[in-house]
Amino acid sequence: MKYHVLTLFPEMIENGMKTSITGRAIEEGKIFLDSVNIRDYAFNKHNKVDDYPYGGGAGMVMQAEPVYLAYKSVSEHMDKKPKVIYLTPQGSVFSQKMAEELAVEDELVFLCGHYEGIDERVIEEIVTDNVSIGDYVLTGGELPAMVMMDAISRLVPGVLNNEHSAEFESFQDNLLEYPQYSRPEVWREKRVPQVLMSGHHANIERWRRQQSILRTKERRPELLKDADLDDADKLFLKSI
Ligand code: SAM
Repeated sequence: MKYHVLTLFPEMIENGMKTSITGRAIEEGKIFLDSVNIRDYAFNKHNKVDDYPYGGGAGMVMQAEPVYLAYKSVSEHMDKKPKVIYLTPQGSVFSQKMAEELAVEDELVFLCGHYEGIDERVIEEIVTDNVSIGDYVLTGGELPAMVMMDAISRLVPGVLNNEHSAEFESFQDNLLEYPQYSRPEVWREKRVPQVLMSGHHANIERWRRQQSILRTKERRPELLKDADLDDADKLFLKSI
């Protein structure tokens, strides 16, 4: 997977992505990160890339041409038009399902806005997907791009070790994950659930499945209507 990030703050992307699991994946060549500074494509001597909005109003707007040239610098080396994701509060809300769909791409381009946003004409020209990370407004698209790259990278083969990637995760089957425990067995008088100490795999699996259903019902009941439940799950759900 190769990510190209068009941004005014490449150092923010680099610092965030080159840390922890994504950092190791970059070092090992499992994912590639190419952050492109839109300011390098400014067409004036002050490297200015924003201007006042036509029609008046507060704030500044990122101009079309530097964004377009930054995009061209990336796309001219590709065989086909890539998916270009504009991070915007006006987009479809990012989800695990979207991460799964994007993880199969070879390359993705992320466009990060700032200030009041980007001139609509270049968005119309280059963007294939408008994506939001939630119903709130941030100062820029860099954190949303990193949120997306983090979630997508976890699904790229080899980024997580195999043992971990095969495990149950929240949102698999539209259920939240069961609670997790680690050593010590007793912490401040709180004991790890006995079933997890039993070594009985079938019972552990059943307990975890039921905890997932219980937790989803308590915390995100709306997920249950699309959850993949078998007869035993449905019976358990009825009983709680
Ligand atoms: N004026 C814009 C509007 O009302 O839609 C908001 C601009 S916002 C202050 C600046 C930039 O932050 C946006 O261009 C976008 O790239 C990014 N951004 C802000 N909130 C976001 C969100 N919830 N999801 C994705 N990107 C967001």
